[in-house]
Amino acid sequence: MFQTKEDRVSIIRACEIANKMLLGDEFYLLVKAAVMYDDSNATSSQLVSLIKKYRTDTIKVELVKPWYRFSKMRAVFNSSRPNVLGLNKYRKPFIESLVGTIIHEYMHYIDHREDEFTMGHGSNSSKGKAGTVPYALGRKAKYLCIKKYHKTPAKKKSIFRLFNPLSWF
Ligand SMILES: [Zn+2]
Repeated sequence: MFQTKEDRVSIIRACEIANKMLLGDEFYLLVKAAVMYDDSNATSSQLVSLIKKYRTDTIKVELVKPWYRFSKMRAVFNSSRPNVLGLNKYRKPFIESLVGTIIHEYMHYIDHREDEFTMGHGSNSSKGKAGTVPYALGRKAKYLCIKKYHKTPAKKKSIFRLFNPLSWF
């Protein structure tokens, strides 16, 4: 379960939604929509079992400062502190994106915990990685968030983007 002590409302809400997703059925149906994912030796059914196996573990979601102020990094997984999921303090993504990022990083956590199965995406570049487990499942989580839990109104989005240079990339 994802827990946070941060007071940023979007993070609190994203943790709640991600927790609900991992307890419900719909997310797993989306995972099983493909049989296999790139760079993983686990079938989608095995992935579902793994996600359920670890979903009661406590993952603390914290804001962290990246080494570079204008880093485009969304989040960081650190194997020396696997139960801490660090989100870039300088970015303020919408809730649906945060949910996707949390699920993406959670797959790194499972990858770290499991010896038999692998589900990473190699280097930090996202190019050509859309079919890997962290990116594909992060995208599915974002989609499910928009469909069922939370959708940021388009009007708010466009005004926000106009005044936030970090979102221009
Ligand atoms: Zn990643």
